[in-house]
Amino acid sequence: MTNSAAGNQKDSRISEEQIAAGRKAYELDRAHVFHSWSAQGSLDPMTVLDAEGSWIWDGDGNKLLDLTGQLVFTNAGHKHPKIVAAIKEQAEKLPTIAPQHVNEARSEAARLITGLVHEKLNHVFFTNGGADANEHAVRMARLHTGKRKVLSAYRSYHGGTQLAVNLTGDPRRIANDDDAGVTHFFPAYTYRSHFRPADAQEWTEAQEAERALAHLRDVIQLEGPAQIAALILEAIPGTAGIYVPPVDYIKGARELCDEFGLVLIMDEVMAGFGRSGKWFAHQHFGVEPDLVTFAKGVNSGYVPLGGVIISDEIYASFTDRVYPGGLTYSGHPLAAAAAVATINAMTEESMVENAARIGEEIIGPGLEKIKANHASVGDVRGVGAFWAIELVRDKATREPLAPYGQTPPIMNELVSAAKAKGVLPFMNMTRLHLCPPLNVTEDEIRFGLEVLDEVL
Ligand code: PLP
Repeated sequence: MTNSAAGNQKDSRISEEQIAAGRKAYELDRAHVFHSWSAQGSLDPMTVLDAEGSWIWDGDGNKLLDLTGQLVFTNAGHKHPKIVAAIKEQAEKLPTIAPQHVNEARSEAARLITGLVHEKLNHVFFTNGGADANEHAVRMARLHTGKRKVLSAYRSYHGGTQLAVNLTGDPRRIANDDDAGVTHFFPAYTYRSHFRPADAQEWTEAQEAERALAHLRDVIQLEGPAQIAALILEAIPGTAGIYVPPVDYIKGARELCDEFGLVLIMDEVMAGFGRSGKWFAHQHFGVEPDLVTFAKGVNSGYVPLGGVIISDEIYASFTDRVYPGGLTYSGHPLAAAAAVATINAMTEESMVENAARIGEEIIGPGLEKIKANHASVGDVRGVGAFWAIELVRDKATREPLAPYGQTPPIMNELVSAAKAKGVLPFMNMTRLHLCPPLNVTEDEIRFGLEVLDEVL
C-alpha cells in the first residue's frame, strides 16, 4: 500500500491556514452558490483544498484517491505540470481573443483533435462544454439533412441545456419539451436487457445486439426516415451506467443510419480522449461517425472546452450558406492551449495505452474478484479507465438495490466508509463509478480496489 497519509487523518501537506480558508469558502458557498442538479437545502458539499495527480485533499486535509475523475474529466490527472505551464504561458502571450480571429492555440488544437479521428472528419466547431456541443451537432444535422426529428437512446446523458436535456434518456428530462423533436428508443444493454424474454435461460451479446437493432429499425420506420435528421449515441454510455454495448450493435446502428439517410452523431463527451483505452470509444467498434461531440477530457477539464468534429460532407453544407450559431468563447485561447498540452502530454506519456492496460490487467480482474466476493455486487463492467460496479438486492434475479432513479442511504454510507479509508469513488444511484486519471499507477489503483473490497 503506497497511501501512507490517506484516510481520516490530516495530511502534513495541508496547513491550518488552508483549512481555515476552506471553512470560510464553505460558509460562503452555502450562503451564495446555487449548485447544479441539487436540492440546495440538503447539500453538504465536500471542500477541496488541493489536488495533484490521482489525489485530492479535502477540507479537513485528508488525502483521498480520486476515482471520480471529478465528473470524468481529469483524464491527465490533477495539476499536470505541462498543462498548467501551457495555460500560464498562453495567459502571458494572449489570454483572450474573439473567435472571429485566428489564434495559434485554437488552430493547433483543431489540427491535433482532427488527427485523432477518421480521415473524413477535418473541422472542429468549438464550444464551451458538452451540452452545447450536442446542441450544435443536432442543429448541423438538421440543416444538413433538411429534416428535424432526432433519435436518442433511453439510459443516456447528453447534457443539461434545453435540447441536450431533452436528448437525455432518463427522467432528468424534467424540462421535457414536446416540441424538441426527440424520440427515444431502447439501446442494447445486455445486463438489464429490454429485449430478453422472461423465460430465457441465457442471453448473449449477439442476441441482445440483434433484438436491439430490430427495435431501432422499427423505431426508424415508424417515426418515418424521411423526417429523421440524426441518431445520437454514446458509444459507451457513461452517466447511465458505463455499459459497453455489443460490437455488432454499434456497427449495426451505423448501417441503419446509412440505409435510412440519418446523420450519426457520436457523443464522446465522457468516453472520449482516452477514457476507454482508445482515443475515442467509437473506435472500439470500427465505425465512422458523421459528427463527434467532445468536451471534458479534451483538456482534462482545466479550462471549459467542448466541440463538434465535422465530416467533410457536412462541412460542405456550410461553404455557401451561413451556419447560424456561435459562441463568444469558441476556441478560447486558454482552453485551446490546455487542450494542446493535454493531447501532447497524453501522447508523450502513453496515457491512453496505460488506461487500456490498467483496465485489462488490473481493474477488470480486480472487479471480477470483488464481484465474486460480495452478494451485493450484481455486475462489474467497463474498459480502460471507465468502470462501474452495480449493486443489487439479489444477484440471481438482478433485482436492483433500489428502484431506478433512487439512491438508497447505504450508498452514502459506502462512499463515507471508502472516504474514511482514503478513497473517493463516484456514486450514481445504485452504482459506484471508477474513473481514475488515465495515468493512474498500478499501486494506486490496487489500493483503490482493496479499499472498495473492504467497504463493500
Ligand atoms: N454528453 C455526455 C455523454 C456527458 O457525459 C455529458 C456530461 O456529463 C454531457 C454530454 C454534457 O456535458 P457538459 O456538462 O460539459 O455540458
